Amino acid sequence: MRETHVGPKVILKRLREFMARAMDSQERLDLIVREIARNMDAEVCSFYVLRSDNMLELYATEGLNPGAVHLSELRLGQGLVGTIAATARPLNLTDARKHPAFAYLPETGEEIYSSFLGVPILRAGRTLGVLVVQNRNKRGYSDEEVEALETVAMVLAEMVAAGDLPRLTRPNVDVDMRRPFTLVGQSLNEGIGLGHIVLHEPRLVVTNLFNENSNAEIEKLTKAINSLRLSIDDMLSRSDVASEGEHREILETYRMFANDRGWIRRLEEAIKNGLTAEAAVEKVQSDTRARMVHLTDPYLRERLSDFDDLANRLLYQLMGRTRETINADLPTDSIIVARSMGAAELLDYPRERIRGLVLEDGASTSHVAIVARAMSIPVVGQVKGVVSLSENGDPVIIDGDDGKVYLRPVPDVESAFVEKARFRARKQKLYRDLRDVPANTKDGRHITLLINAGLLVDLPQLDESGAEGIGLFRTELQFMIASTFPRAHEQEKLYRNVYKEIGDKPVTFRTLDIGGDKVLPYFRSKGKEENPALGWRAIRLTLDKPALMRTQLRALLKASGGRELRVMLPMVTEVGEIYHTRKLIDREVAYLTRFGHAMPTRLKLGAMVEVPALLFQLDELMRVVDFVSVGSNDLFQFMMAIDRGNSEIAHRFDQLSAPFLRALRKIIEAGERNNTPVTLCGEMAGKPLLALALLGLGFTRISMTPSAIGPIKAMLLRLDIGDLQKALLAELEKTTTATLRSWLTIYAEANNIAL
Ligand code: PEP
Ligand code: MG
Repeated sequence: MRETHVGPKVILKRLREFMARAMDSQERLDLIVREIARNMDAEVCSFYVLRSDNMLELYATEGLNPGAVHLSELRLGQGLVGTIAATARPLNLTDARKHPAFAYLPETGEEIYSSFLGVPILRAGRTLGVLVVQNRNKRGYSDEEVEALETVAMVLAEMVAAGDLPRLTRPNVDVDMRRPFTLVGQSLNEGIGLGHIVLHEPRLVVTNLFNENSNAEIEKLTKAINSLRLSIDDMLSRSDVASEGEHREILETYRMFANDRGWIRRLEEAIKNGLTAEAAVEKVQSDTRARMVHLTDPYLRERLSDFDDLANRLLYQLMGRTRETINADLPTDSIIVARSMGAAELLDYPRERIRGLVLEDGASTSHVAIVARAMSIPVVGQVKGVVSLSENGDPVIIDGDDGKVYLRPVPDVESAFVEKARFRARKQKLYRDLRDVPANTKDGRHITLLINAGLLVDLPQLDESGAEGIGLFRTELQFMIASTFPRAHEQEKLYRNVYKEIGDKPVTFRTLDIGGDKVLPYFRSKGKEENPALGWRAIRLTLDKPALMRTQLRALLKASGGRELRVMLPMVTEVGEIYHTRKLIDREVAYLTRFGHAMPTRLKLGAMVEVPALLFQLDELMRVVDFVSVGSNDLFQFMMAIDRGNSEIAHRFDQLSAPFLRALRKIIEAGERNNTPVTLCGEMAGKPLLALALLGLGFTRISMTPSAIGPIKAMLLRLDIGDLQKALLAELEKTTTATLRSWLTIYAEANNIAL
């Protein structure tokens, strides 16, 4: 083995000169490969670029037949070059022809070369091409030479990413980086967004690649790592970091990595080879990402992505970037792409610039999805691999209705979505025009349309939608997006702000509905439950934890001084639970009055009808509450014994089924008998065909997601409710079919009712 290795510093210096000089891009590539060959004592240096058709095209060569440039190509996975690209790992061989993957391309004339060293050209974990050196004799390439070639490959990666290449001449083929992708995930919030990618943890573009003074750069790196360690320690010592659970665990892992000698050594080596501190971080990060793509073990993947996050934080430190400086440059049509994201982080973005959110993780119950829904941002989750395929600023379309994401869409897809978006915008305009139109049916019956809310970000939509009030305020959302139990004064502050925001419109606060699928990471429930939806949740939990319940009731009472307070209890199963709660309320009222607090002008207590057992004690219930509200999501789940969160079986039963509608009708009749107002606040209230059924059953108050107010109002304005009620109730009595869906659809069509 010869020891003629020339450090990459010299090559990097020359590359810098070539890049600074104005010249034709092919000419520059030719110079670059010649320089690499010369410096590495190699007879051949070739540069291949991965195209969108999965072919690796020879872009430049020193030593192989120059006539093969732009003609010679290998499939991804084919030959040595294809293998390097497919595995994202280098190949260092003394006798290339003996390798099982060796493929001979006659046009290149490479059969005479024995030694072969090829490295992937990586950027953010994606393979963009391959860089190869070859020698006739059986020399071995040292580890330093491998490292040197990898460092040079990084510079080439930036050139590919910057589009600094000769133009491709084949129609419909581009370099792989610009390849369009359609990715399928899971819809977490409906809506369509067209815009440009904003990576939540953006890979900062490192433009300053070459260092002037390695020692100074190492010092810079050491400083940045030290302050990173300090900031992690600081975060860990903060009292609001939950003592158990995800958050702390992640920070502990970061801390461990920030002290990892191997990682720091690799960073320092890259600097010694001539890179700046930030370019070194990017290089090591890219290697980590490439390894991540090929890992199947979820645990290892997770650990490596923690490394990746840490590298990102380090880059931010080194480049002096902060959330504020990034927000200032945000495009006005940003579609945020993230591996995962906390709810609070989403709230840090300026809402008016966000058109969509794409997550690699994320479930419909995740906090960020809840907040995004509150902000009416289309969301697609479970989009595996989206981060590494995305580049900041790339065009993207998110289809929240279908759970699809179109990265760098082809013109046909784009124009189809532009049309779809226009159609939606026209509809939205029609709904906005209805904002101040009273929600009266054609035969003059007034329907009270209310919205469901849970966070302050929801509240502007009350006014925008023209709804009459908040029919359901889900107080648990404040708890779900926090990292510890919100203190009494924080709860009170939220409720006060709600009153302030809504003016004189009414609001119904539901007491904490946690448990089931609404888990609080900082709250340990009673061990693992077999059936959490039927378990220790909602009113069952809060009655067992009176301190929790009393704190919330006190906050509500204090915040509503001088106003009407409407409190609603979730998951009530028997009337006894109402008595119990009343006692707690009375105690709080007595306590607060004693201390001179202003009390609400009126206090109304209501129950949600969600548990089927209540259907058989409606009269008893209605005698002891001031109002009821049907939680049709849960009532349907329990009546049909169908898990509401299981998408596999979600379509099995219909909410328009006769037995379910008959149950709803019973509630209306009981309300009329007892003079008790009845509202319905499940998702069905916001779906025009289902809401049509509700109005036909006799519901006159429905509460829904704010974006549904317009479509529901448009539907009811065309409705003769007297006629519908007569027809529907008659049909419900005599029908023998399972669902009234088609009956209702035909009714709507025959009566020209827009759905
Ligand atoms: C319901 O169950 O219908 C309801 C409105 O409550 P949640 O969806 O919050 O369980
Ligand atoms: Mg419910």
